[in-house]
Amino acid sequence: MWDLVIIGAGPVGLAAAIEARRANIRTVVLEKGTLVNTIYRWPKETIFFSEAKNIEIGGHPFPSLAPKPTRREALQYYRRVAENEELNIRTYTEATSIHPDLGRFKVGYRDRDGEGELKSRYVLVATGYYDNPNRLGVPGEDLPHVRYGLDENLPYWNQKVVVVGGSNSAVEAALELYRSGARVTVVHHGAEIRPRVKYWLKPDFENRVKEGSIKLLLNARVREITPREVHVETSSLDSPLQLPSDFVLIHIGYRAVDGLLRRAGVAYRGDAPVLTEAHETSLEGLFVAGSAGYGTDTRTVFIENGREHARRAVQEMAARMQRVSGSIV
Ligand SMILES: Cc1cc2nc3c(=O)[nH]c(=O)nc-3n(C[C@H](O)[C@H](O)[C@H](O)COP(=O)(O)OP(=O)(O)OC[C@H]3O[C@@H](n4cnc5c(N)ncnc54)[C@H](O)[C@@H]3O)c2cc1C
Repeated sequence: MWDLVIIGAGPVGLAAAIEARRANIRTVVLEKGTLVNTIYRWPKETIFFSEAKNIEIGGHPFPSLAPKPTRREALQYYRRVAENEELNIRTYTEATSIHPDLGRFKVGYRDRDGEGELKSRYVLVATGYYDNPNRLGVPGEDLPHVRYGLDENLPYWNQKVVVVGGSNSAVEAALELYRSGARVTVVHHGAEIRPRVKYWLKPDFENRVKEGSIKLLLNARVREITPREVHVETSSLDSPLQLPSDFVLIHIGYRAVDGLLRRAGVAYRGDAPVLTEAHETSLEGLFVAGSAGYGTDTRTVFIENGREHARRAVQEMAARMQRVSGSIV
């Protein structure tokens, strides 16, 4: 029997595990992939928009060469922190269910040896959003040449690539692809590229569009994807455009992973669970930290503030455990 099962070993789950360890809460972290699996899956050349100090966890200083760290530096940093803190993390172990059970929880999981179950007083879900990309909802979006996100740009050399989206990740992907020799067209439904695109990417992108190195279609909506074309409707043209394409990369945002919480019976308002100040759901003892608790609002919750949710949630658990042990004594 555990005091706490944390689901997800991203920065937020790790921040919670450190807090729990310091409060003598017996904790296990379940992670379906490798440590900080989301950051591992980011495009390889990603640079954080946050400064290193704002994504530190447990007060461990994050030394990075530039003020904004790279993906690789972050992978090393979080691994070192997890090792130094001797966190109890089971990687390649996916949580599959959470069942409330007489003031406790049963957490079902699947690992390389099969299925199992853990019992715990508290559960904290920190599953983020990266596994749940928004979909276009058009015919053809499941074709094999259609991809959500970009991990590696080299396979796209000399290919016609349509990038769908108009914010950071779309702009970053378009620039990376162009510099790797792809012929890139960006299709965005808005009237302009989003103003919040990283300040060091936006002018670069705009200049590539001006010089014609990257094509940009604004006020444009994808209606269908076929094996060789993307059919796009624009406000300025009467009939749809047919863009030749070898690959289609979709970058239109994410929404929180919510299956575990919904199946557990947690109350939702709209697309987000109802949470208390301490980030507890409607099921007593089941907490959510980071963007996992914010539905489609993935743009306002980051590592920076998600680690604070984790701290508040674990402090609440620690206070309750202290009250219980105090009343037993
Ligand atoms: C390209 C990019 C750049 C970004 N840059 C920044 C930045 O500069 N600063 C910043 O603060 N934020 C940044 N973000 C946002 C940031 O990545 C997320 O806010 C952050 O990862 C959230 O941390 P988390 O621990 O809540 O979730 P995640 O890091 O997504 O971790 C969730 C973990 O849960 C695991 N998981 C999911 N389901 C299960 C399950 N059923 N069982 C077990 N494990 C499970 C996943 O494998 C994953 O490891 C960026 C995001 C992207 C995509």
